[in-house]
Amino acid sequence: MRKKILREVEVDVCSNCGKEDGMSFECFACNFVACWDCSDKSEVMVKYSHGVYHHGGKDGWYCAMCDMRLSEDRSDPLHNSYTKVRSLRETLKHWSESFERSRKVAEAEAERLFDDFDAKRKAGQ
Ligand SMILES: [Zn+2]
Ligand SMILES: [Zn+2]
Repeated sequence: MRKKILREVEVDVCSNCGKEDGMSFECFACNFVACWDCSDKSEVMVKYSHGVYHHGGKDGWYCAMCDMRLSEDRSDPLHNSYTKVRSLRETLKHWSESFERSRKVAEAEAERLFDDFDAKRKAGQ
């Protein structure tokens, strides 16, 4: 037998655009909820990776208001740890950029000096 029933379901309503979406992200510090689209906007939600080299299920989500407040008063140990990881990510990025610059200069110099050396060697033969 088949019966039709009305079932009550809870849906997340995006605090930013009002969209009812299956996939949503809740702020770790308040009950602000962002839909998939809005979670991508940095002025709405701030996403933190939990790893320097990776991200995943333990990443952090904070609405822009909480992120600003917690960045200032540093009252949330979890938020503080996410900002540490983010700052290490940035350090790594700067390091690798400066490494790449030094690498290119050093390699170009070695090539140029080798060419000079090689030309002299051939001329001396
Ligand atoms: Zn939305
Ligand atoms: Zn919040």
